[in-house]
Amino acid sequence: MIARLFCIASLSCILSSCDTAKSESPAEEGTAKENTHGANAYAHTKAILAFGPRPVESEGLKQVSAYVSAELKKHNWHARYQTFQAMTPLGEKTFTNILARYGAEDNAGLWEKPVKGLLCAHIDSKPIPGIDFLGADDAASACAAILEIARTLHTDSPDKASQLELVFFDGEEALTADMGPVQGTNLFDGIYGSRIYAAQWRSRGQLPEFGLLLDMIGHKDLSIKLPSDSPRELKKDLLAAAKATGAAKHYKMASGPILDDHVPLNNAGIPTIDMIGDFARKGWWHQKEDDLSIISAKSLEISIRVSLFFLKERL
Ligand SMILES: [Zn+2]
Repeated sequence: MIARLFCIASLSCILSSCDTAKSESPAEEGTAKENTHGANAYAHTKAILAFGPRPVESEGLKQVSAYVSAELKKHNWHARYQTFQAMTPLGEKTFTNILARYGAEDNAGLWEKPVKGLLCAHIDSKPIPGIDFLGADDAASACAAILEIARTLHTDSPDKASQLELVFFDGEEALTADMGPVQGTNLFDGIYGSRIYAAQWRSRGQLPEFGLLLDMIGHKDLSIKLPSDSPRELKKDLLAAAKATGAAKHYKMASGPILDDHVPLNNAGIPTIDMIGDFARKGWWHQKEDDLSIISAKSLEISIRVSLFFLKERL
């Protein structure tokens, strides 16, 4: 998430509605075996962070991209890089989104056929001068969750997997602290990858029916806050998925809209919901504290179960 742009009132609402209830959910009651999703995603998060910070054009980002592509390939997902240049407040930069579809690379028409859904996260970490910012929950954990979801769909729902496109956005984070305007354009700093990705659907044919964006979904004190401008049907389905998987207490509405990678997709006509954690709490957001110590396998398990339920209902 690049910034909270909208209103101070929304921040106070977010802060005042922190959920500390202790009722059990199926994921929390589960045995170690049943919590495989969380354990696998935790291991992926740890592996991603071992490459270090991954801001645009960094060696860390190249290595993480290679890791993600290789992990996907193990489970019959084929990755494709979408590289582009964009002007930023720090000059022209080269960004690379990773797209993936289910099926072999030589599958004729793999990239031409329509898909029903998109599953997305941002792969870059915010460049913050003076600290090695890792972005464990912002958003390495979300990329890790997608890898585990991809593995699971390959194992138990290959027909549904083939209806999905995975997207790992580069350049979600603003490169400057104030998200200032990009000189010579009418654009602001941030969400570079999703803007380009959403625009290219104009020439790719039939639009997907929906998108699910994951961001900050592995915090040990899991509190998902869906933006107030979430598409109505997707909000209904996601809250139903949370209820059905015993995770309802972790899923609430934010009082305002949020600027994240779902915005260009919604503007392009692909209704997309942002399953985003409450970044306003406890001073870890865009701080060095956003490291592996704030991530829990249990929270990842919950987020993945909700995502899988939602996706399987819709695909
Ligand atoms: Zn961020």
